[in-house]
Amino acid sequence: MESASRAWPSLDALREEAVACTRCPLAETRTQVVFGVGDPNADLMFVGEGPGAEEDKQGIPFVGRAGQLLTRLVEGIGLTRDQVYIANVVKCRPPGNRDPEPAEIDACRPFLEQQIDLIAPRVILTLGNFATRVLLGTKQGITQLRGNVYQFRGDAAQLVPTFHPAAALRGGGEVLAKMRADFVRARQLLDSSSAGPRPALA
Ligand code: URA
Repeated sequence: MESASRAWPSLDALREEAVACTRCPLAETRTQVVFGVGDPNADLMFVGEGPGAEEDKQGIPFVGRAGQLLTRLVEGIGLTRDQVYIANVVKCRPPGNRDPEPAEIDACRPFLEQQIDLIAPRVILTLGNFATRVLLGTKQGITQLRGNVYQFRGDAAQLVPTFHPAAALRGGGEVLAKMRADFVRARQLLDSSSAGPRPALA
């Protein structure tokens, strides 16, 4: 398996390797790899769980119902999808939208780590349990973790955990209100850090 320490020279080179990936069984059932979309120099990056049926069909993350809500939340803080970067923990659809297996997450992790290295966002919004646990290296759930801001890799980025948009679609107004508050927090962090130099990644 690919070592997490390998460094790819560019996001395009990384994408090229990802689209040909056969490191886990999801390669056998996917229609296509859903690598990520947006500004390769974005200050704000979103990390979701994994592609659903619509994403698998289109090859673009967050384009189904949950994605449409994400787009509205992004626009609600005065940004467009083109100004941010959107990726997932796993780049291939788990069949039937089941949860990704630990081995699938591990196989895909170098792609996510390198995306973060290359994009070097100042703020990362993790969407739901999977992304938050993977990036914070914790087993705690999103309900406990959200509402706080975490340092990611020293002070390279600030990480804001929030619910997955699908949870707001299921859970309604209360979840959505908390998500809105988390997005506003992320926007404030971006605004307050925009004057300073971007710290180097560890
Ligand atoms: N849910 C995710 O976590 N990611 C997507 O791309 C779509 C739905």
